[in-house]
Amino acid sequence: MRNSHLEADCLFCKIILKDIPGKVVHEDDKALAFEDISPQAPVHLLIIPKKHIARLADLQADDAALLAHLFSLVPILAEKYGVLESGFRTVINSGERAGQSVFHLHIHLMGGRDFRWPPG
Ligand code: 5GP
Ligand code: ZN
Repeated sequence: MRNSHLEADCLFCKIILKDIPGKVVHEDDKALAFEDISPQAPVHLLIIPKKHIARLADLQADDAALLAHLFSLVPILAEKYGVLESGFRTVINSGERAGQSVFHLHIHLMGGRDFRWPPG
């Protein structure tokens, strides 16, 4: 690995390294956002840290600023994709029972359709 914060066998770390392709919509020194490969809404983006944190459950106190940075991208991307005012949903699944399938922390940003509550 060229970045000590990344993990060799992690799918999203490989997208960060461009070892596998992703439709990147935002990149900076701390974060990457890209289109979900299997969108569950007309807009479905994933926002990830450029540091391998497996689950929200693994977040440490000194990751607070990083998480704040990830969330600061939400309204920017929501506006860019035309869902800022119509409404959007953010989801973080943590752990298998919550439906997490890729164990690199990510915020789902979805919009462009109606959402129900409670979620399934
Ligand atoms: P989770 O189920 O862990 O909350 O969300 C993982 C998300 O990653 C899913 O929505 C899934 O469609 C997406 N995903 C899985 N593999 C890839 C991939 O190779 N590329 C992209 N862009 N998204 C992926
Ligand atoms: Zn990773």
